[in-house]
Amino acid sequence: MSISKPSIIEKLTGILGPKGCLSEAADVAPYINEFRGRRSGDAVAVALPASAEEAAAAIKAATSEGLPVFPQGGNTGLCYGTVPAKGLVVGLRRMRGIREVDVDSGLMTVDAGITLTEVHEAAAKAGMQFPLYLGSEGTAQIGGLISTNAGGTGVLRYGPMRDLVAGVELVLADGRILNDLQGLRKNNTGYNLTQLVAGSEGTLGVVTGAVLKLSPQMQSRAHAWIACESAEHALEAGTRVRMAFGNLVEALELLDHAQVSYVVKHVPGNRMPLSELPAWSLMIEIASPRRETELTSQLEAVLAQAMEDGFIADAVVAQNETQAKEIWHFRHSVTEVNKINGIGVVMDTSVRPSAIPGFIKDADAVVARDFPQAERAITAHMADGNVHYIVMFPHEVWSAIADKEARELDVERAIHNVAAAHGGTFSAEHGIGRKLTEEMTRLIDPVRLDLMQRVKAAFDPENLMNPGVLLPPR
Ligand SMILES: Cc1cc2nc3c(=O)[nH]c(=O)nc-3n(C[C@H](O)[C@H](O)[C@H](O)COP(=O)(O)OP(=O)(O)OC[C@H]3O[C@@H](n4cnc5c(N)ncnc54)[C@H](O)[C@@H]3O)c2cc1C
Repeated sequence: MSISKPSIIEKLTGILGPKGCLSEAADVAPYINEFRGRRSGDAVAVALPASAEEAAAAIKAATSEGLPVFPQGGNTGLCYGTVPAKGLVVGLRRMRGIREVDVDSGLMTVDAGITLTEVHEAAAKAGMQFPLYLGSEGTAQIGGLISTNAGGTGVLRYGPMRDLVAGVELVLADGRILNDLQGLRKNNTGYNLTQLVAGSEGTLGVVTGAVLKLSPQMQSRAHAWIACESAEHALEAGTRVRMAFGNLVEALELLDHAQVSYVVKHVPGNRMPLSELPAWSLMIEIASPRRETELTSQLEAVLAQAMEDGFIADAVVAQNETQAKEIWHFRHSVTEVNKINGIGVVMDTSVRPSAIPGFIKDADAVVARDFPQAERAITAHMADGNVHYIVMFPHEVWSAIADKEARELDVERAIHNVAAAHGGTFSAEHGIGRKLTEEMTRLIDPVRLDLMQRVKAAFDPENLMNPGVLLPPR
C-alpha cells in the first residue's frame, strides 16, 4: 500500500486548523493584491497562525519544501512589500492579543497582529501613550510597523518605530523562534538583533510579538496652523518653535499650496483654518506631560514675534479641542485625497531639515523641465527632514501614458538624484519593498549593501523570506 504525501495545504490545515489556512481564490484575493490595486501577485495559500508556535510550524512546513514565505500585516505598505510571488502568505490577524502592560517599566508586550489603534487604546487605558501616529493606524499592524520602521508625525519627539520597540519575537525561515522580548533598557550582550529586525521588511523572519515603549500621556497641548510665503520662512518659523519649546514639540508638518488645495477640493466638510490658501502651511503641535495653562499663549507669543520679523504671513492658534482636531483631520486626509485627485508619484525622500528648501527648489526645476504635465505637491514631516515630494499627474494624462511603470521609475529616479545631491536618501519611512530595490543598487554604498546581504544570508540562507523585497539579488 502506498501512502501519498500530504499536500502543503493539507499540512497547513493540520497545523493551523481550517480557520488558519486559506486556499480558495476568493479568500486568498485580499492577500495578493496591493491595497491601491497597483500590483497583484500569487500565493499557494494564506496561513493565519494563532500563536508564534503555530507560525513556526507553518513556516517550517513551507520552507522545508522550498516554498517562499511572504509576511503580511495590515497590507497598508506603500512599496509593494506584501505582494507575494507564488508562496505562502503569513498573515497575523489572528494574533492580536496584549500579553502584558508593565507601567512601571513603561513597556507593553503584544502579539504582532494587533493594530496601532488597538495599541493606542490599550496604552490609554493604562494611563500611558504609545507615541506613533500615522494615517493608516486603524489597519497597520505592529509587525508591519516594525518591519517597515514606520515614521509618521511624531518622529521628531519620539523617533520612528525603531526607537519605540524594545524587543521582538521572530520566527525564522527554518522554524526556530528568536525570543528577544526581555525589554531591558541596558543589555550589552552583543548585537542588538531587535534593531536589525526593525526595517527589515519581512526579509529576516516573521515578527510574531513585540515589546513596545510607552510614554506618559500628554496633559496639555497647543496647536497652530501658520501660513508662510516660502519654504525658507517655514523652516525659520519651525526652528524658532523648536528653540522655544525644545522636546515639547510634537509635530511640525509642512504642506504646500497644491496639497492644501486638494484637501479643500475633495473633502467638502474639511475646514481650512485660514481664509486664504497659503503658499506654504506649517502645522504645529506642542504638548506637555504636565498641566500647563500657558502653553497656548506661549506659542502665540513665539508666533507673534516670528510674524513681526516677517517669517509668518498669517497664523491661527487652536482655542479648543475641536479646532485642534480639525487641524489634524486636515493633515490626515492627505493620502486619501491624493488618490482622488490624480495619480501621484510619491517620493519618500529624506534630507537634513536645513536642506529642505534647496532640495525642493532643485526638484521643482527638474519637474518643470522633464514632467511639465504634472503638478508638484509637498507633504513633509519638516523637523525630521522627511519630504514626501509628490509629482501629481491628472488622471487623463496618466491614462494616456503607455508604459506607466517606466514613467514612474523615471520620475522617482529624477527626484532621488536631487535628494542624493543634497546629501539625502530616497527612503525615509516607507521602506524599499519591491518598488525601490534597483535604487538600492544604484544609490546605496556598496559596502553597506554587501553587509546587509550577508546579514540576510545569516538569518535566511535559502532566501525564502520575502524574496525580492528590500535587497536586490546578488
Ligand atoms: C493612509 C496611509 C497613511 C500612511 N502614513 C504613513 C506614515 O505617515 N508614515 C509611515 O511610515 N508609513 C505610512 N503609511 C505606510 C504604512 O502604513 C506603513 O508602512 C506601515 O508600517 C505598514 O504596516 P502594515 O501592517 O500594513 O504592513 P504591510 O503593508 O502588511 O507590510 C509592510 C512590509 O512589512 C512586512 N511585514 C508585515 N508584517 C510583518 C510581520 N509580522 N513580520 C515580518 N514582516 C512583516 C511585509 O512583508 C512588507 O514587506 C501610510 C499608509 C497609508 C495607507
